[in-house]
Amino acid sequence: MSIAENLSRIQNQIADACARAHRSPADVALMAVSKVHPVEVVLEAYEAGLRLFGENRVQEWQSKAPAAAHLEGLEVHLIGPLQSNKSAKAAELFQAVDTVDSLKIGQRLNAAAEALGKMIPVHIEVKLSHEESKHGIAPEELPGLLASLSELKHLALAGLMTVPPWSEEPETARPYFQRLRQLRDENVSMYAELTGLSMGMSGDFAVAIAEGSTCIRIGTALFGRRVYSALNQDR
Ligand SMILES: *Cc1c(COP(=O)(O)O)cnc(C)c1O
Repeated sequence: MSIAENLSRIQNQIADACARAHRSPADVALMAVSKVHPVEVVLEAYEAGLRLFGENRVQEWQSKAPAAAHLEGLEVHLIGPLQSNKSAKAAELFQAVDTVDSLKIGQRLNAAAEALGKMIPVHIEVKLSHEESKHGIAPEELPGLLASLSELKHLALAGLMTVPPWSEEPETARPYFQRLRQLRDENVSMYAELTGLSMGMSGDFAVAIAEGSTCIRIGTALFGRRVYSALNQDR
């Protein structure tokens, strides 16, 4: 299957999920997760009409970005954990960071954005499971983090993001999506721009749409399985 064929199948599935949830497909952004794939995949996906991309490592996108620099309207978000020593690079390379989970990262990113004279939209990653491997801030700490981040003039609070525990059964993710939406609803009155809900991946995006997702992050369903080669075996 070509990327264009996969895209059209996914768009139909998004339309169905939106119809069932009485939502407009225009309110659900489709982010193409191109991590691990070569930049040619980004070029082909762009050709197929995709404009929003997610990459999970600063260095990986740094090496791919020059070959995509000519693509008009391309928007690439960082969706992997950010180390504070990479904040300056991240601020330079990405249009948004969807995984801010500490004040320290927020401050570093803000300083880098200020130096570049830009505003960076951010999603706060919330950790809703107890898995060791997951990143994100604990829900109890979210109000405090939002209060501190809202003081930073070069960051724009855009929404919340989460990654539920991996499961083959999409319904397993539903309570995590519901919880993220509840946290968004509790805080959006204080931070009016905090409307985004980045949730849902290849296996569970229909459930995420039913629970209010505004951005689904799709890798495998668009591009096939990721093959971890010698070049990126450190993951
Ligand atoms: C890899 C990744 C995705 C895409 O996952 P698929 O199951 O391949 O669609 C989405 N979100 C994040 C944060 C990822 O790291």
